[in-house]
Amino acid sequence: MKEIAILGSTGSIGVQTLEVVRQHRDEIKVRALAAHSNIDLLEVQIREFCPDLVCVFDENKAKDLKEKIKDLPVRVETGMDGLIACATFNSADTVVAAMVGMIGIIPTVEAIKAGKNIALANKETLVTAGHIIIPLCKEKKINLLPVDSEHSAIFQALNGEDRKNIHKILLTASGGPFRGMKKEDLKDVTAKDALKHPNWKMGPKITIDSATLVNKALEVMEAAWLFDISIEKIQILVHPQSIIHSMVEYLDGSIIAQMGLPDMRLPIQYALFYPERKELKPGERLDFIKLKQLTFEEPDTETFYGLKLGIKAGETGGSMPTVFNAANERAVARFLEGKIRFLDIPKLINLAMENHTLISSPTLNEILNIEQQTYDFIEETIKSGKLD
Ligand code: NDP
Ligand code: MG
Repeated sequence: MKEIAILGSTGSIGVQTLEVVRQHRDEIKVRALAAHSNIDLLEVQIREFCPDLVCVFDENKAKDLKEKIKDLPVRVETGMDGLIACATFNSADTVVAAMVGMIGIIPTVEAIKAGKNIALANKETLVTAGHIIIPLCKEKKINLLPVDSEHSAIFQALNGEDRKNIHKILLTASGGPFRGMKKEDLKDVTAKDALKHPNWKMGPKITIDSATLVNKALEVMEAAWLFDISIEKIQILVHPQSIIHSMVEYLDGSIIAQMGLPDMRLPIQYALFYPERKELKPGERLDFIKLKQLTFEEPDTETFYGLKLGIKAGETGGSMPTVFNAANERAVARFLEGKIRFLDIPKLINLAMENHTLISSPTLNEILNIEQQTYDFIEETIKSGKLD
C-alpha cells in the first residue's frame, strides 16, 4: 500500500492526483492533504478520502473548516507549521508537491529530510533551490520523480541509459494561446485571453506562464536540475499539438520521444507507481491516423522574451533564478488582477534581474529573503509608474 500526502490538493494537479487515487483505492491511501483556503473543496476531499491530517494555510479558513468537519476524526493544522506537518506526516511515504509557487520550498525540503519520496509538480521549488534540493535527495536516497509532463517524458526517454550518451534534450512547448502573435498584437490582451490555453487545463499561474513562455524557461531550469544536464544542451521546440511531451537525442543520432494525449493524470500516475505502469481510465488512446501530422517550430524569443530572460537567469545561476521566478510570480498575480498589462510581465522581470546583486550559492534563508525583496521591488516599480 502506498501512503501519500498531497500539498495543494485543491488545485489542478491535486484534483487530478485524487482522480488517480480514486482508480487505485486498494493501492493508495491518502494520509494528509494541504491547501491554501479552498475549504469547500477540501471538505469534499476529506469526506471522500479520509486523511488523518489536513492543513489549511489561511488561519481563519482553518478555523471554519474545523467547524465544518467536527464530526470527523481529522486533525486540522494551519500555516507553514501545518504544511510541514503534512509534508513529514509519519506514515506517508510519498509527498505530492503540487502547491503553486515558492511557498513549496520549505515543506519540500522538510519532506526530503524526513525521507519521503517526492512526486514533484511544483517546479518553482527546484528552479530556485535546486542546488540545495538535489544534493539533499542524494544524501537521503529518496526518489524525486517529475510530474511535469515534459520532465516525465524525458525521465521515460532516459530510462536505463547512461547520461554520457546524451547529445541533447528536446523540450517541447505548445506555444500557448498567443503563438504566432507579435508584440503589437499582445499590447492589449487581457487575463481572460491569456487563460485560454489550447491544449491543457491548468491552474491560472501556470496558464499565464504558458502564454508568456516563462513556463518553458522554468522547465529548462527544472530539467537541468533533474537530469544533471547543462542548459546549453536543452533545445526548446514548439510543437502545437502537445503529443510529443519531450525527447532525448543520443550521441549516435537516435532520438527517443515519449508521446501521449495531453492528460496530466498520466505523468501523475507514472510518478506515483514508478516503475510500474497501470491502465489509465477512461482510456482514450492516441490515434495516429486521426492525428495525421505533428508539427514543429522555433520559439519566438523576441516576442516572448520572458523565455530569453529565464534562460539567461538559468545560465547565470546562483540567486538569479530566484529573482526571475519571484518577479514572475508577483507580476503574474498583478496581471491576473488586471493591474498591469501582459507585456509588463517580462518588462518587470527584466528590471528585477537588472537590479539584483548576485549571490553565487544562496542558502534557504537567502532565497526567501531575495524572494521578499523581489516582491517589494516589483510592487514599488508598479507604483512608481515606470511601466507607462
Ligand atoms: P493551482 O493554482 O490549480 O493549484 C494550486 C494549489 O496550491 C491549490 O491547492 C492551492 O490551494 C495550493 N496553495 C497555494 N498556496 C498555498 C499555500 N500557501 N499553502 C497551501 N497550499 C497552497 O495550480 P496547479 O495545480 O496548476 O499547479 C501546481 C504546481 O504544479 C505549479 O507549480 C505548476 O507550475 C505545476 N504544474 C502544473 C501543471 C498543470 O497541469 N496544472 C502541469 C505541470 C506543472 P487553494 O486551492 O486553497 O488556493
Ligand atoms: Mg510542463
